[in-house]
Amino acid sequence: MTTTASAAWWHPLPNGQTACDLCPIGCRLRDGQKGPCGTRANESGTMRLLHYGRLAAVGLDPIEKKPLYHFYPGRSILSVAAPGCNLHCLFCQNWHLSQEQDQRTSAATPAEVVEMALAEESVGIAFTYSEPLVWFEFVRDTARLARAQGLKTVLVTNGFLEPGPLAEILPLIDAANVDLKSMDGRFYRKVCRASLEPVLAAITAFAEAGVHLEVTNLLIPGHNDAPEQVDRLVDFVAGLGRHVPLHFCAYRPAWKLEAPPTPRETLVRARTQARDRLDWVYLGNVAGREGRDTICTACGQLLIARQGYAARVHLDGAACPGCGAPVPVVVA
Ligand code: SF4
Repeated sequence: MTTTASAAWWHPLPNGQTACDLCPIGCRLRDGQKGPCGTRANESGTMRLLHYGRLAAVGLDPIEKKPLYHFYPGRSILSVAAPGCNLHCLFCQNWHLSQEQDQRTSAATPAEVVEMALAEESVGIAFTYSEPLVWFEFVRDTARLARAQGLKTVLVTNGFLEPGPLAEILPLIDAANVDLKSMDGRFYRKVCRASLEPVLAAITAFAEAGVHLEVTNLLIPGHNDAPEQVDRLVDFVAGLGRHVPLHFCAYRPAWKLEAPPTPRETLVRARTQARDRLDWVYLGNVAGREGRDTICTACGQLLIARQGYAARVHLDGAACPGCGAPVPVVVA
């Protein structure tokens, strides 16, 4: 099936160029030129979408894999992606999806994706694996239909978007995990070819809009793992509220970066640093029990036990069954 849609958030320029207003890169594209995100191109003075209704990946995942640990724990979520990303992080852990231009895709309309989610009895639809915000039009249209069917909508995103499109998409999103790569603007410029400030603004906007928010930080040895960098990142997340879950994840060498894998001690140290300011600090991509389970902050009772991506929930609604303390977890 052919699926098409008009590109949003662009305007024509007098010389036949098109100006993209979607993300802070602000591309000016000549006729025939494709944006570096790989998702839109100037075709005879009009912005054309290259991946609307094209799926490069689709699967039913545990929601813990996003990672979302406080949003319908233990449930599965239909996860979809198109090729492309507006960042070009040298360490990208999903670079086959985000950076390769010629990928095999299959066609699906927004309605078909919603049907898939309903058939799988998924809690909703997660736009993930690559960068969903540059798949903006398809995410928007699918999220609208999904909401109408009672499905939850999830973004796993780099948060690098202009304020206008962000304001358009926020009311359609139930939960987001935003990847905050560093608090160092130079890191964003040199390693990701992007900038930090729009990401911080987007994370703040998610929180202020009441979207369920979790934050991930991939710790890369020698690049963003210094204690003072971790401190700044924790301060920022804590400024949104000590209830916001923060995931420190281990990096593995991928794509163009040759730093060694993150030692477990680095993750444990970061978690220790964060725990005086944040209630829920988790570790990802690493073996061991530390930073895996959800424990009541009031009485220490085990609330959610995790093994790999499987979760066993021992909550009483959204409260601790032991002491009755409220727990900021969204449950059915
Ligand atoms: S979304 Fe793509 S085309 Fe638009 S400004 Fe960003 S990188 Fe350029």
